[in-house]
Amino acid sequence: MSVENPTRLQLLLLVVGLQALLLQMRSGMRPSRVVLLESRDRIGGRVHTDYSFGFPVDLGASWLHGVCEENPLAPIIGRLGLPLYRTSGDDSVLFDHDLESYALYDTNGSQVPQEFVEKIGKVFEAILEETGKLREEMKEDISIAKAIAIVLERNPHLRQEGIAHDVLQWYLCRMEGWFATDADAISLQCWDQEVLLPGGHGLMVRGYRPVINTLAKGLDIRLGHRVVEIVRHWNRVE
Ligand SMILES: Cc1cc2nc3c(=O)[nH]c(=O)nc-3n(C[C@H](O)[C@H](O)[C@H](O)COP(=O)(O)OP(=O)(O)OC[C@H]3O[C@@H](n4cnc5c(N)ncnc54)[C@H](O)[C@@H]3O)c2cc1C
Repeated sequence: MSVENPTRLQLLLLVVGLQALLLQMRSGMRPSRVVLLESRDRIGGRVHTDYSFGFPVDLGASWLHGVCEENPLAPIIGRLGLPLYRTSGDDSVLFDHDLESYALYDTNGSQVPQEFVEKIGKVFEAILEETGKLREEMKEDISIAKAIAIVLERNPHLRQEGIAHDVLQWYLCRMEGWFATDADAISLQCWDQEVLLPGGHGLMVRGYRPVINTLAKGLDIRLGHRVVEIVRHWNRVE
């Protein structure tokens, strides 16, 4: 795709995930001066609400983390009148991140004792603590997967075998689930640097799709446009 006279265009956003849509909104630019390119045949990226059961099921993001004014999504959700189911209160019936909510089974179908799971959880914590020390040593960033490999190399007593190894892997999978990416793409430097906004957590009962639709309204979005290279010329961008 070639954009003639890019000064008139002002903003060329290359992907159509939630961040790009929010960025466009916050830039205050007129939609007519913005073009968004998206490689897939749908917008939203990791926000994707499926309606095939006749009701909304979020396959990607489904919580608003930090129900407060500082959260740029909160006013949009409020304006649209979208209900939130609060999952951070004491009366919540949803369980998520606490260990007590999980029951692990081995491949023979026997439940792994809870105390054992918790014991391996402590090993995982010890490994993460060691990766923290490694972070201080390293000048350059590496992945958490690589950091764990180095820690286990240096601390053989933290290595696990058999079912203990499987449970340890489960802890790593939970971490990957939280970041929605593989451990070799999680940054050692940044993985624990997030700042949680106040206000608790709310589940988007009607799904995130209305938010995406609202943000995308009136924008020039070109689906099926995968960006492979950006070339700037004096009078156009390709
Ligand atoms: C299963 C799951 C559950 C989650 N749960 C929550 C939650 O409850 N609450 C929460 O706040 N967050 C949650 N997240 C995280 C949240 O979805 C993401 O942080 C957020 O959607 C990221 O938005 P983004 O715009 O940065 O990236 P993305 O959503 O990844 O958007 C990037 C877009 O760029 C497009 N793209 C990539 N490369 C190219 C290219 N070369 N050319 C053109 N287009 C390209 C992609 O197709 C995609 O549409 C979850 C994520 C997942 C996967």
